[in-house]
Amino acid sequence: MTRVTVLAGGVGGARFTRGLLQQLASVDARVAANDPFGSREGAFSGTSAQGATASEVTVIVNTGDDMWLDGLRICPDLDTVMYTLGGGISEEQGWGRPDESRRTSAEIAAYGRGWSWFTLGDLDLATHIVRTDLLRGGATLSAATEFLCRRWQPGARLLPMSDQFVETHVRLAADADEHRAGDLIHFEEWWVRYRAGKPVSEFVQVGLADAVAAPGVIEAILDADLVILPPSNPVVSVGTILSVPGIRDALRSTTARVVGVSPIISGASVRGMADACLNTIGVQTSALAVGLHYGSRRGDGVLDAWLVDKTDADAVPALEAAGIRAVAVPLWMSDVAATAQIAAEALHIAAGLTDAPTPDLPIAEFAFPGPLRDRLVAAILDGSKTSTTSTLIEYGIEDVPLPVVGSRQVVIDSAGHPVAVIETTGVRVTRLADVDLDHARDEGEGYTSVAAWRAGHETFWHSDDMRASIGDPAFTVIDDTPVVLERMRVVRVLPRA
Ligand code: GDP
Ligand code: CA
Repeated sequence: MTRVTVLAGGVGGARFTRGLLQQLASVDARVAANDPFGSREGAFSGTSAQGATASEVTVIVNTGDDMWLDGLRICPDLDTVMYTLGGGISEEQGWGRPDESRRTSAEIAAYGRGWSWFTLGDLDLATHIVRTDLLRGGATLSAATEFLCRRWQPGARLLPMSDQFVETHVRLAADADEHRAGDLIHFEEWWVRYRAGKPVSEFVQVGLADAVAAPGVIEAILDADLVILPPSNPVVSVGTILSVPGIRDALRSTTARVVGVSPIISGASVRGMADACLNTIGVQTSALAVGLHYGSRRGDGVLDAWLVDKTDADAVPALEAAGIRAVAVPLWMSDVAATAQIAAEALHIAAGLTDAPTPDLPIAEFAFPGPLRDRLVAAILDGSKTSTTSTLIEYGIEDVPLPVVGSRQVVIDSAGHPVAVIETTGVRVTRLADVDLDHARDEGEGYTSVAAWRAGHETFWHSDDMRASIGDPAFTVIDDTPVVLERMRVVRVLPRA
């Protein structure tokens, strides 16, 4: 199974994901049919035990453009993704429903209410009414989104980036109508009413400080095989998602490859005004500058690879020099087939990233380098070792906090090479005398009694290496010695360098 997670804004993210779903469906079908020619996507078309594959796509959607309007909660990007994937989008507009009428908006305007420059179609209003009803009834935005998707069946799991309301605002650099320079106005007012034509000094995410990633978001990044930054606005779509606490760190520590697709072609934002956003944060409107703005995961950025349009081929050497694998391919999403081809290129470049950087995680060292570590690491990799024990004093000496459930570490071998990512699934501190047989057995060292387990560990804890590292030549464990019992699972085996 291939798990792909996309961090999407509205139109660009939705269109890309539609092409991705089509591409994955055709890869899955070819693999299921055992196509002798296989596929260019290589590792991203693996076969399950039954001989069939299924790809699973999660879309983490920007909610920074959301707002209250006429008493309703409007989520432009969630709806664009849902309608596009569910077959209910207006293809001409790229957002909203086809065959719309505007009678309700006209009535609201007749009362002098609403925003005259932000029209809501009658069919679209039904979505906002249902969502608002759910929210008022106590549902989270995640739950409301899941409910709406039951009708639209988008073929992917849609997750809002956060269940808290985080609304992007812009700070005006000059007066505009009733607003004064320095005022914060909602992003949608700047974008739709002023068509991004008024100078702004900064973007402010109102509500960000109290926001947490929605349920499933961090896991969808950490557990993915591939994370894609589609050609969405790098500032107010992807940039906003990345600003939610924890999301950027998840991208940096995931074992998935992270591949981005440039929303900028030949120095211009395609269909949109992304250049006005890039200007505000001081990034040039070019495929190169946006790739470098995201940065390489080998440095302090989030990308392993970046697709640029074939007209931007001259950006490739500079991107590669910055540690980002780059390739120039056609990036116009002119129709679903062309977009599926872009997705195929993203899958292809991801499959070729065999030297992806080691995830940015703490190191887990088992015993000391040498035959014992080799045996323990082999037991972790083959799944026979799922528990481990340390004396509490070792944590004090190395001045490291106790492990917590859910934390991940990179296991290194005797040569110091990363071999696997593990996740802590349980932590207990007990007396040495209270260690039970289950724990002893799950150490994966063949112990069939607690006494044998303890004898083996005493040999290790009383070894010269351990006494030297503790700095106590007479260090001896007794029944009352506090020990840290950890349980773990292998998240991913890393490719051998
Ligand atoms: P929004 O929330 O509706 O503004 O949509 P997104 O943030 O998902 O994406 C908007 C961006 O998509 C635009 O700023 C463009 O740069 C980009 N875009 C739109 N169409 C295309 C296309 O055909 N190819 C590429 N590469 N980018 C596109
Ligand atoms: Ca948007």
